[in-house]
Amino acid sequence: MIECTLGQFCALVLGTALVSLVLVALFYEWRDGRREKTAHQHVYRCERCARVYVGSRTRTVAKCPRCGAMNEAIRT
Ligand SMILES: [Zn+2]
Repeated sequence: MIECTLGQFCALVLGTALVSLVLVALFYEWRDGRREKTAHQHVYRCERCARVYVGSRTRTVAKCPRCGAMNEAIRT
């Protein structure tokens, strides 16, 4: 049997819980980031300067950040 002090046991339990919480937080951050990219953005291609950019899903047209032209979404 492995012997340890009460302090070592408590440190082991708290350390395991902390690592588990960090892993769960990282998982949700990763999952929400993927969902955010796919669910809330349109892809636009500027007809004037050919720049490709992303914008909010709530708008059907968006202003080009390079030249200022208004463009319709090419992919939703
Ligand atoms: Zn442009």
